Amino acid sequence: MKSGLRFLNLPADVVETLEDLRSMVREFVDREIRPISREMEKREEIPKELIRKMAEQGFFGILLPEEYGGAGLGELGNVVLQEEITRGDASVAVLLGASTGLCGGAINIGGNKEQKEKYLTKIATGEYIGCFALTEPNAGSDAQHIETTAVKKGDRWILNGSKLYVSNGDIADVAVVFAANDRSLGAYGGITAFIVETSWKGWNVMKKEKKMGIKASGTAYIVLEDLEVPEENVLGEVGQGFRIAMETLDIGRITLGAGCLGGAKEAFDVAWRFANERKQFGQPIKNFQMIQHYLSRMAMDIFTLESLVYRVAWMADNGMDIIREASIVKVFASEVLDRVVDLALQIHGGAGYIEDYPVEKMYRDARINRIFEGTNEIQEYVIFKTIERKGGL
Ligand SMILES: Cc1cc2nc3c(=O)[nH]c(=O)nc-3n(C[C@H](O)[C@H](O)[C@H](O)COP(=O)(O)OP(=O)(O)OC[C@H]3O[C@@H](n4cnc5c(N)ncnc54)[C@H](O)[C@@H]3O)c2cc1C
Repeated sequence: MKSGLRFLNLPADVVETLEDLRSMVREFVDREIRPISREMEKREEIPKELIRKMAEQGFFGILLPEEYGGAGLGELGNVVLQEEITRGDASVAVLLGASTGLCGGAINIGGNKEQKEKYLTKIATGEYIGCFALTEPNAGSDAQHIETTAVKKGDRWILNGSKLYVSNGDIADVAVVFAANDRSLGAYGGITAFIVETSWKGWNVMKKEKKMGIKASGTAYIVLEDLEVPEENVLGEVGQGFRIAMETLDIGRITLGAGCLGGAKEAFDVAWRFANERKQFGQPIKNFQMIQHYLSRMAMDIFTLESLVYRVAWMADNGMDIIREASIVKVFASEVLDRVVDLALQIHGGAGYIEDYPVEKMYRDARINRIFEGTNEIQEYVIFKTIERKGGL
């Protein structure tokens, strides 16, 4: 299948740059990530050495502007990166996505020049790992009602509260933290984003969660206890936090879609190989019509998803409104990945259920995509709201 990039009518030099990026990332994944994927899962961590090597390759800055140390390749570049990295290991893609896309993305969207120079440059080069702390024990889907408080005292803000399921929260150097500065103003006006250095007193990593999949990606429970944030670390303006969070997550959902696309392609490849090699009734199982049907359904889903992901990434890079499209990508991509991985496992028969075969891990890693970055139920609500607002499609 030709890459979806080829059909966007982009200038030839842009396509070449992005396809060069794809080849470079693919080679890196084969050499540095694939061989240690299971080991990372067992240890439930991504080695610092791998993070350093990815930083050296510039992977943390693909999405971010050149003036702040990034490659300036926008969401299209990021989509290529995420697709290829996820083929090797979904946890590594989550580490990159949370640092560059969520933490770096929020600072890029809401930050002033000084903040970008101080923090974004370090995130773009991989010197700092970032995280994004929105979810709380009592506020998941209902993120408008976060309970973490931000109270102004002199030239400092004092943060108190707890943040749940923070990807990279256990290893991050810097965090974008959302807190309510004035509940009476509602989410738009009453929530502020803060750039927090995790070495500051009051950032407490209480627990690293045990998960069914993406085990090498750290997911932390954080308690903020009288955490003092200087005024200059208010991201954007006071009261603009929720807008920054939503705009950041819109892009994040396209990035997630790209990860699902990479995961689905990888699952197809292993299923295709297996269907050729495994013999029953004296012939490769790919000769059976039912297996052919499964492989065809997988290819259809992958083709449709690829067309969608690249189109919406292009729309985002061209400044178009992508609120509905990002939600569509998120729901469709996560469902495609589940369907494709499930069929890939079925094609493996009993072997698909055994740890020695990669599809067993893919199946577990896939499941989170219907949940994080806003559940699919909430995305369907967002899609419906845009239909209602417009009075139709
Ligand atoms: C591994 C992992 C990594 C994560 N990383 C991050 C991170 O880096 N930063 C961060 O801030 N968060 C992160 N999250 C949190 C994630 O975004 C939330 O778990 C998610 O938004 C859902 O919130 P919840 O778990 O509280 O579920 P709930 O909101 O309690 O939802 C429970 C169920 O009810 C449904 N539901 C809720 N409201 C409605 C409604 N109005 N209509 C219909 N159905 C509804 C949901 O769709 C879901 O099926 C992560 C979570 C996990 C598991």
